[in-house]
Amino acid sequence: MKPRKSLGQNFLIDKNIQSKIIRACNLSGNDTVLEIGPGRGEITQYLLEQAGYVIAVEIDNNLYQGLIERFGSFKNLELLNADILKLSLSGLRGLGGGKKFKVIANIPYYITTPIIARLLSHGSLFSEIYLTLQKEFAERLTAGPGTKDYGAFSCFAQFYTKPKLIFTISSSAFWPRPKVDSCLARLEILDEPSVKVKDEGMFFKIIRAGFNQRRKLFKNNLSRIFPQPKAASCLSKLGLDEKVRAEDLCLSDFARIADYFT
Ligand code: SAM
Repeated sequence: MKPRKSLGQNFLIDKNIQSKIIRACNLSGNDTVLEIGPGRGEITQYLLEQAGYVIAVEIDNNLYQGLIERFGSFKNLELLNADILKLSLSGLRGLGGGKKFKVIANIPYYITTPIIARLLSHGSLFSEIYLTLQKEFAERLTAGPGTKDYGAFSCFAQFYTKPKLIFTISSSAFWPRPKVDSCLARLEILDEPSVKVKDEGMFFKIIRAGFNQRRKLFKNNLSRIFPQPKAASCLSKLGLDEKVRAEDLCLSDFARIADYFT
C-alpha cells in the first residue's frame, strides 16, 4: 500500500524499536490501552498480547479494513474507524472494565498539538500517555524556565502531567523515513494540577500572552491584555523583577500572577 502523507503515515518498521517501546510502557494484563492510529497493527499486535483490553482508533478506512482482517477474532479489541479529534472520548469511559486507560501511540505528527490538548482535556480518563513524537516537540514539552525550548505548551503539559523523554528513535526506524528524529515520551497524568490556581482560564490566558512575543519583557506582553500600569505594578507587588521575560517564570510564578488578576 502507498502511505498517505496527508494522514502522517510513517509506519514503525524497526522490530527492535517496537519491542523497546512496549517494554517501556510496563504493560500488564490489567491495563486497558487506547491506541491512536494503529496503522497496519505493528504496535497493536504487542498490545493485544500484553494488555487486558485495547481500543484502537484508525481514521483510514483501508487500514481499518486490514486491521479487521488481521485482528478481527481478538475478543479484547475494540476497533474504531474514526478521527481521534472528533471521537467522543467520554463515550469510551467504562470500556475494558472502567479503569483509567494508558494511551500508547505512534501518532501522526501533523496533529501532535491537538491530540495532546484533546487527551489532556479528558485527563481523568487516563493514567499515562506514551507517544512517539518529533524529538524537538518532546524537548519543548519537558523544557523548564530559562531554556530556549520553554514555552506556553511546556506550561500546559507540565500543569497537568509529568512529561519525560524516554529515548530517542532514529528516523530510519520508520517507513517512509521522516525528515526529523523522533522519541518516545511519557506524560504521567497528575492527580491534581502541579500548581494551585484560582482560575485556570486566567492562568492560561496570562501564559499565552506572556509568550506571545517571547523576546519582549513580560510586563509589555501582559499590557496587551491588562492596563499598562496594572501589568507593571503586579510584578513589583509580587516581588518579581520588572525586566523579567515569560521564559524566566515558573508555573508557580504564573499561578501567583493569575491569582493577582483573578
Ligand atoms: N501505529 C502505526 C505504526 O506505528 O506503524 C501507524 C503510525 S502512523 C505514524 C499514524 C497513523 O495514524 C496512521 O495509521 C494514520 O492513518 C492514523 N491517523 C492519522 N490521523 C488520524 C486521526 N485524526 N485519527 C485517527 N487516526 C489517525
